[in-house]
Amino acid sequence: GNGRLDRFVIIGGGISGLSSAFYLLKEAKLRGRGAAITIVDPSDRIGGKINTLRRDGFVIERGPDSFLARKTPIIDLAYDLGIENELTGTNPRAKKTYILHHGKLHPMPPGLVLGVPTEIAPFAKTGLLTWGGKLRALMDFVLPASKETGDESIGDFLSRRLGTEVMERVAEPLLAGIYAGELRKLSLSATFPQFREAERKHGSLIRGMRANKRKGAAAPVSASRVPAAVKNSMFLTFKGGLATMVEALNEALSGVERRLGVKAVAFRQNDPDEHGTDSPPYEVLLSDGEILEADGIIITAPAFDAADLLEPHTNVDALRAVNYVSVANVVMAFDKSKIGIDFDGSGFVVPRSEGTTITACTWTSAKWLHSSPGNKVLLRCYVGRAGDEAVVDLPDDVLTDAVRRDIRQVMGITAEPLFTEITRLHRSMPQYPVGHLQETAKLRTKLRAEKPGVWVTGAAFDGVGLPDCIRQGKEAASGVYKSLLG
Ligand code: FAD
Repeated sequence: GNGRLDRFVIIGGGISGLSSAFYLLKEAKLRGRGAAITIVDPSDRIGGKINTLRRDGFVIERGPDSFLARKTPIIDLAYDLGIENELTGTNPRAKKTYILHHGKLHPMPPGLVLGVPTEIAPFAKTGLLTWGGKLRALMDFVLPASKETGDESIGDFLSRRLGTEVMERVAEPLLAGIYAGELRKLSLSATFPQFREAERKHGSLIRGMRANKRKGAAAPVSASRVPAAVKNSMFLTFKGGLATMVEALNEALSGVERRLGVKAVAFRQNDPDEHGTDSPPYEVLLSDGEILEADGIIITAPAFDAADLLEPHTNVDALRAVNYVSVANVVMAFDKSKIGIDFDGSGFVVPRSEGTTITACTWTSAKWLHSSPGNKVLLRCYVGRAGDEAVVDLPDDVLTDAVRRDIRQVMGITAEPLFTEITRLHRSMPQYPVGHLQETAKLRTKLRAEKPGVWVTGAAFDGVGLPDCIRQGKEAASGVYKSLLG
């Protein structure tokens, strides 16, 4: 290499920022160049939403808890970091998911994929839906595919194909776990493009999802890549929690500078005519007054923070249009001997119409065997969703009481928890509006032309899942290099 040193500032130390840094280093090596990287985050730790608490033998996730095994970018990163043997899957004996219906837990009919039935017999038998609702869903086989090519909401799409009842009673509570959102406001193309593909290719959502399932079973995308021990799990995490990946990244990025506890408040472009060609192309101003020189900037902050940084430079309407929902979760640990329940599933979800405080409950100790000592039970209850966010800011004792009332009514649990951990995540769940992909693509194209070397990415853009964020970090790294050096 020629030893040329490029300076990069990464705004945000979540998984998007960390993977951007990781892949910038890889890319630098490949190109025989040096990279001087600084990560800036107002928090006092890296990891962003990933936040694992290890306490009394428990592994407790305060943020994300796992990821989809078939999404390869995170598996690849695990191998790159040498932590693939730390991967672990869900307990095969806790596959069932329940749904609260008229106050009682019903097993979800087998064969539901993201709320879409792919096996007719169990779907026809379920007590969750009326006959009218079931027949309406089966109309999907005969209803013609829409000829529109533009985006629409997931809610509109699912009601169009399967009817409102399936959408509200089954799909919304299941998918709300991922977006905490209102399906009528969420973009289909930005969330589940495979639904639209299924309709287009097979003339029916059900037929299409069945074909996808068969294809998936015949050629599991990442099966060859994951260690044999976890091959059969749909979801994966690490035995020490998701923090394992953050810790490994932290080590791999030991040569990267950190500015923790400070915000990036603005950046400016230097005009070479005015400042001379020796001046850096960009300068990033931090909240403590420090100025970082940069050839490239990768912004991975949530949309509202990214919009503040970009507003002086470009039109940020596409970012302002992404609303963020606040949620909280209440984790409770118990002695197994005090709970007379055989948890034969991974937990349950709650449709809006049930009117409980909790929106879902994961039976964490049953779903993830690594999470708890064998004689203990760990439950994670979720509160807050679009249209119901005030609950997140209830005082601790009021929130805990409401959650305990729900689990008493639904599961009969009256035991005193050994401990309770409450995590509030304000404005944490991005709601991609209809047209999101198109609008953010426009913003990025414009930014690329006007501010070469400045890249904006992260969960606000092309996918909220951890694997999607890692993919976007990788794309950011190669994108920034391309715009700097071609
Ligand atoms: P973040 O982790 O939000 O990081 C962005 C960082 O930018 C933050 O640390 C912030 O402090 C920093 N920042 C903001 N402004 C500035 C500034 N001006 N200057 C510098 N830094 C700034 N995904 C899954 O795959 N599986 C799950 O099970 C899952 N569960 C989830 C559960 C919850 C409760 C939530 C909230 C999300 C969940 N997700 C899950 C989604 C996933 O966790 C996130 O999409 C992902 O972690 C986002 O990573 P990120 O780096 O893009 O953003």
